Amino acid sequence: MIHPGIYIHIPFCNNKKCDYCDFYSIACNPSHSNFQQIKHAYINTLASEIIHYSSELKNYLVDTIYIGGGTPSLLQSSDYSALLTVLHDHYAIASEVEITLECNPDDYSKNYIQQLSHIGFNRFILGVQTLDARAHNYIGRKSRLCTIEEIQEFCTIPDIIPCVDIIVGIPVQSVTGYRSMLNSIIQCNPKHISAYMLTYETNTPLRLRTKNPLQYANFQRNMFQKTINALEASGYNHYEISNFSIPDYESKHNLKYWNFESYIGFGSGAHSFYNNKRYYNATIDDYMNDAIASRTEDIRTQQDSVVEYCMNKLRLKQGFMINDMHNKTGYLPAKSFYQSVHRLIDKSFLIMKNCNGDICIQCTDEGMFMLDTILLELASSLL
Ligand code: SF4
Repeated sequence: MIHPGIYIHIPFCNNKKCDYCDFYSIACNPSHSNFQQIKHAYINTLASEIIHYSSELKNYLVDTIYIGGGTPSLLQSSDYSALLTVLHDHYAIASEVEITLECNPDDYSKNYIQQLSHIGFNRFILGVQTLDARAHNYIGRKSRLCTIEEIQEFCTIPDIIPCVDIIVGIPVQSVTGYRSMLNSIIQCNPKHISAYMLTYETNTPLRLRTKNPLQYANFQRNMFQKTINALEASGYNHYEISNFSIPDYESKHNLKYWNFESYIGFGSGAHSFYNNKRYYNATIDDYMNDAIASRTEDIRTQQDSVVEYCMNKLRLKQGFMINDMHNKTGYLPAKSFYQSVHRLIDKSFLIMKNCNGDICIQCTDEGMFMLDTILLELASSLL
């Protein structure tokens, strides 16, 4: 039986978008009555979309549900109770299902997390990003700063897996200031830390006001290496480029993306991958107009699939096996693929080794910073 994950996208953010963000979301005023109407209409559309696809997916046993955004914590626990009821009524859900919610500091309270925990959520990601006011201003984060006391409280709430997101390599932050922030977060004992390198995405306000982001590349890399060292020394397993967990607390849901496994996305802008097909939903207006018609199949060539497979699997420390790549993409590597792999091994970006009769290909630590270069080289071997 296939065990897919379900992803639900909540496309709303609080008042203004953060200056570094290029995720799909729209800024709303949550205290305005209009927002309540839009929110209810969106939840109803989500419910009918979820029900519509249930017959097509009736042989699947869902073992992860992930609510992402946008800012999912703008919705109340009663909203999620309604959505989880729809899911339980129409899908086979594993008894040990992992149910994750991303929570913005503006919406965080122990009470909110406990309400969600009571209705079945068991994994929460607190979007801390930074505890430093200058760094917070530099990236133009619109939510308020989280406090270390809140992280301490969050990490002691019973029956949940507390996870924290941080941003690494914000130029105005000193090395000592950053290390002290990271140490204080580690001391709170979150089970999982996602450490994302600050990126200057095209056309974001942050990119537009930054003359030459490349000038920070060495600093950022240095900060990332310090992050890896500090987290590994504290017992976190660096299992994916940006993700660190205490053993057994990896994100089961996100591992489905990186392992090229099935997931079903609901909501505006959500993506799906199942039965070897990819789909994406339209942005909010078209989605609200007709959610079912707004889903489009994303037709890929085998070359696209192989590059996407490598892009996801090489993010993982364990890399990939040639037999698994063959099973999931239908591609049996040609001589040119291995020639590219050897060129990347010569540059110390990849490692290749025998594993029980199969061939395993992994990134080195250096290679993890050079993933774009690696993918270009591998893609060129497929032409
Ligand atoms: S809250 Fe998250 S999704 Fe919304 S604008 Fe900020 S970074 Fe983007």
